[in-house]
Amino acid sequence: MARDPRFDALFEPVKIGPVTAPNRFYQVPHCTGMGYIRPQMLAELRGVKAEGGWGVVCTEYCSIHESSDETPYPGASLRDDDDVGNLRLMTEKVHAHGALAGVELWYGGHTSANLYSRATSLDVASLPNDATLGIPAQSQAMDRSDIRAFREMYRDAAKRALQADFDIVYVYANHYYLLHNFLNPDFNRRHDEYGGAPANRVRLLREVIEDVAGIVAGRSALAVRYSIPRDYANDPRGLLECFELVAELPDLWDITVDDYGYEMGSSRFVREADNQAAVRKIRAMTSKPVVSVGRFTSPDTMLAQISSGTQDFIGAARPSIADPFLPHKINQGRLEDIRECIGCNICYAHDSLAVPIRCTQNPTMGEEWRRGWHPEKVAPSHADEAVLIVGAGPAGLEAACTLGRRGYRVTLAEAETELGGRINRESRLPGLAEYARVRDWRLGQLARMPNVGIYPDNRLDADTILGFDAEHVILATGARWRSDGVGRWRRQAFAGSAQEAVLGVEQLLDGFIPGGHVVIHDDDHYYLGSALALHLRSLGTAVTMVSPKDSVAGWSNFTIEHSPTMRALIEAGVQIITARGLAGFRGGQAEFECVYSGARSSIATDYLLPISARIANDELWRELDARRDEFGANGGLSLQRIGDCRAPGIIAQAVYAGHRAARELGQADNGSKRDRVVL
Ligand code: ADP
Ligand code: SF4
Repeated sequence: MARDPRFDALFEPVKIGPVTAPNRFYQVPHCTGMGYIRPQMLAELRGVKAEGGWGVVCTEYCSIHESSDETPYPGASLRDDDDVGNLRLMTEKVHAHGALAGVELWYGGHTSANLYSRATSLDVASLPNDATLGIPAQSQAMDRSDIRAFREMYRDAAKRALQADFDIVYVYANHYYLLHNFLNPDFNRRHDEYGGAPANRVRLLREVIEDVAGIVAGRSALAVRYSIPRDYANDPRGLLECFELVAELPDLWDITVDDYGYEMGSSRFVREADNQAAVRKIRAMTSKPVVSVGRFTSPDTMLAQISSGTQDFIGAARPSIADPFLPHKINQGRLEDIRECIGCNICYAHDSLAVPIRCTQNPTMGEEWRRGWHPEKVAPSHADEAVLIVGAGPAGLEAACTLGRRGYRVTLAEAETELGGRINRESRLPGLAEYARVRDWRLGQLARMPNVGIYPDNRLDADTILGFDAEHVILATGARWRSDGVGRWRRQAFAGSAQEAVLGVEQLLDGFIPGGHVVIHDDDHYYLGSALALHLRSLGTAVTMVSPKDSVAGWSNFTIEHSPTMRALIEAGVQIITARGLAGFRGGQAEFECVYSGARSSIATDYLLPISARIANDELWRELDARRDEFGANGGLSLQRIGDCRAPGIIAQAVYAGHRAARELGQADNGSKRDRVVL
């Protein structure tokens, strides 16, 4: 298929200083949890993005010195010559597809606790660490000799960036790292020529830009990453004034807003293209090309970025993670094949956990090298065989899609009239509408596969399955929430758990509207408890949320959703009680125990909703497993269970399980490799 000429503007080459990007699709620097520790994994991941049509592909933050070390988070590194080879693995892969490779040279400052290098971190002032796990440590305030040494670090790293063949070299001046902190009067209280008026605060940035420009001039472009307030009219830190003073110095500006909660906000709280007013403001202040992100997944929104003059590139991290082939799909007129990011921030959560990135929508993310999974290619079926998949939640749908692509004869049976499993119910909760994309993209793909038959409203039992004409059966029957409180806090059911006033999660998700007051005991700590609380508040129900931890929804810290979740709960009038574990429910009183002192307290309530853990729907599995002697009659049936019916988990895990089962069907081994540092 050919590209719709409407989108031609997205495919125009753009000059960035001495280099030219082949199109406007620009993968901005983003973390992967791989960095210098897993160079082959990383190189393959970036190479696949270039193959998918991203005209520029950047590294994650790339340390320039041992005193900029955020271990346990594995960023990229150009600290010494040994790092050059590791990053050259990436530039070779990116160049092989005609894209430009960018490197984001980074010095952390007080955010780097230097847990690995044990070096002293330098910053504009002596500031307490607030990033690497909140280590009780402070940076050293830089004196003039430190500033000279710092400039030398940047120059040396820029030389190494050229050796590694990067086409774009970044000076990184945002995200509360050192260069930003000089600009920011909240941190910069210096009385020397680097503090005070904007011209002084911007001095170090100007010097570093000029230093790096002196090294890369004519060979690679110089980009600066810079942040401005989302509400640019309210700029108490004078970031726009500082910008004006250096607006023409770099070859490209990579602009973010100075609130990570918005820049990287989840779809629960931040919409596509949220930051664009601020970006437009900056673009009017420079003649240099500008790139910025906005979780762009709609080609029309992308086009509007260019036609409205908001920016020159389509900056992307998450859309390129969810679909590395997004540019190609637009180019080939295959818009319906674009696998849109759902904005769940599970990718970021895994960076934050210092493990390789994964994605809810794209199960191949992070497995490009280790398992050799390509997002657009699968091996053909190993034989002309049929597969029966039971259950059309995320696991079953993904398995059906991938097996369908491989060419098997696939039958997908679902008990309910609607396909989608947990997605159907959860995506109806406040803020979770985009989660439906997990279901909808797969249904769209399946609708075009003549070798896949889909049968909703078909609850299968063991007899039917054993009588079915298929060589393989995959059970993806999901899980259900417990209502007896058993989970992390409790190992046994609480007293009174069988009462009618004890609600089940599914009861609420299926539309039950309780009046009066509901107490939620949230021992799950992710999004469901708060989403249900907000749902109940929207129905007028009074809600108290109780957590046995020191905060509610604590795990959503990893997805950058904790703070907006708390704000939403507080604004909706949800009462929040922490460090209390559920003890029992008697006579309309929910009883709790202080997790530290054991002191008892109670709350009068009409209903109690315990959210703790899930039970796998594995009854079918157990029955079939017990009847394996009957499989032979069916020509040696293969049976497996995947997703929540095997081990309940996040949606990403179910999608991954479905994908893996489909990839590995009929394969001798899973081909997994272990990454190692190149010496
Ligand atoms: P997962 O996240 O593992 O994909 P879900 O709970 O989202 O799990 O989806 C499981 C799906 O399986 C649900 O839609 C459920 O209705 C369906 N299901 C469960 N048991 C059967 C069965 N015996 N026959 C057909 N479908 C089933
Ligand atoms: Fe988007 Fe979620 Fe994938 Fe991240 S993990 S790219 S937010 S779908």
